[in-house]
Amino acid sequence: MTIPFIARIRLKTRQPKNTMSTFNLSATIHAFHLLTQPQSLIPALRVPTFADLPIPLGQALTTKAGIRPDIRALVLDKDNCFAEPDSSVIYPAYKDHFQRLKEAYPGDKILIVSNTAGTRSMDPEFRLAEALERETGVRVLRHSAKKPDRECIDEIMQFFLQSPSADVQKPSQVAVIGDRILTDIAMANRMGAWGVWIEKGVVPVDTLPIRIEQLWLRKVEAFGYKSDKPV
Ligand SMILES: [Mg+2]
Repeated sequence: MTIPFIARIRLKTRQPKNTMSTFNLSATIHAFHLLTQPQSLIPALRVPTFADLPIPLGQALTTKAGIRPDIRALVLDKDNCFAEPDSSVIYPAYKDHFQRLKEAYPGDKILIVSNTAGTRSMDPEFRLAEALERETGVRVLRHSAKKPDRECIDEIMQFFLQSPSADVQKPSQVAVIGDRILTDIAMANRMGAWGVWIEKGVVPVDTLPIRIEQLWLRKVEAFGYKSDKPV
């Protein structure tokens, strides 16, 4: 019997813990659709690890006009960005850098947007989100749609636009930081923000979707595509 392509991905990515409950077929199909849109996958900036993020972030970026962008707020991924997957604890080696980031971007200028903690499907009572807020002292978005969905982008911008301390008027004042091309970077580019790719997560994770997205990024760049930076 032939196993359909999507089902094979599902089998390959199965992990001993709660992968079945975390798998979102429509989000996965949606994410893979992005593979057909090469520029949507290219980060504006890549850094080896979370501890290598420049502070302030704008100093490492240039707009199409060749000037430093006015980055006022950050969207921060959690899993395998500053914490191990399935953990609400900042990875010990990154604690100092996390603190420096908070000092540079105080109040609501950092928003954690995870596809686990704070999502209505994975964290219906928002207990993970609350634990993460206690641990980090940073707001965690409660959201219905996962990254890189358009609805998730709307929820993020709604948060920033309504927060006086964030002082954000448009997506080009936001940087999205994360370890996944098809969620974090694709969403940044889709929303007109700056995508910052953490190349090495907290722990090595070798799944088929990750291999595919990184291989695709290398191919796209080899064909000469460049990051479509915000204006
Ligand atoms: Mg992640």
